[in-house]
Amino acid sequence: IVEAHGISKRFGDLEVLSDIDFRLDSSEVVCVIGPSGSGKSTLLRCLAFLEPYDNGSVYIDGQLLGYDQRGGMRVRAGERRIDEVRAPVGMVFQHFHLWPHRTALENVTEALRLVNGLSRRDAEAEGMAMLERVGLAERAGHFPESLSGGQKQRVAIARALAMKPRVMLFDEPTSALDPELVGEVLDVMKQLAADGMTMVIVTHEMGFAANVSNRVVFMDQGQVVESGPPSILFRQPRSARLKQFLNTWR
Ligand code: ATP
Ligand code: MG
Repeated sequence: IVEAHGISKRFGDLEVLSDIDFRLDSSEVVCVIGPSGSGKSTLLRCLAFLEPYDNGSVYIDGQLLGYDQRGGMRVRAGERRIDEVRAPVGMVFQHFHLWPHRTALENVTEALRLVNGLSRRDAEAEGMAMLERVGLAERAGHFPESLSGGQKQRVAIARALAMKPRVMLFDEPTSALDPELVGEVLDVMKQLAADGMTMVIVTHEMGFAANVSNRVVFMDQGQVVESGPPSILFRQPRSARLKQFLNTWR
């Protein structure tokens, strides 16, 4: 579903991503791990083209998302095109980004109405179904300030799901949560994985990565250092960098 070839990205003098290849097949769950500053968020943002990359190419369902450099030519796709190409990609961030003055349900239905043009009734029916899926139907009328962090993140997941994504990208979805609220969000993600959702999850939850993902990608200094099934990656890390990284989490 997602294919990235030779992605590079720099911020000024700093090379944040160096020649990254990444491929995600349907129903795969990939966890991205790595030290702070290794480029995990930037990679995720480049995959959704929230951040333009400098070199390389990203394909979503075989459609180029961003630049085409064949023959040395750099062609910028029009904005509308970019929105169309990335429509199958849903994203969930560390800090929820809910609308504070809208209820949980309104947060979920907003894009359904504005982007997909659903009627209020249809959007609300769909929105309630999504809130049910994350176990929050009874909180539909609550505003974000009266929800716990875990509930807010579940609303954010419901909002992304409402757009019927074929791929969900999560950037540290539980890092801003109190420890006792992490489990409820991971449970929702686990259920999504069981339902066959294709997902990329940047996370520090090694237990989740080990139990739920099909593949773990370890990044350091803008490169993919190792990747493979969690059973192998966690038990037999090859590189010194991964060994050291895993030791800090044990
Ligand atoms: P963390 O685990 O702390 O979230 P990360 O692996 O997600 O780290 P990134 O956020 O991708 O790392 O950042 C990679 C590097 O790029 C860091 O050195 C960061 O300071 C730098 N960086 C990220 N965004 C920008 C930006 N908009 N402008 C300049 N530098 C940036
Ligand atoms: Mg990050």
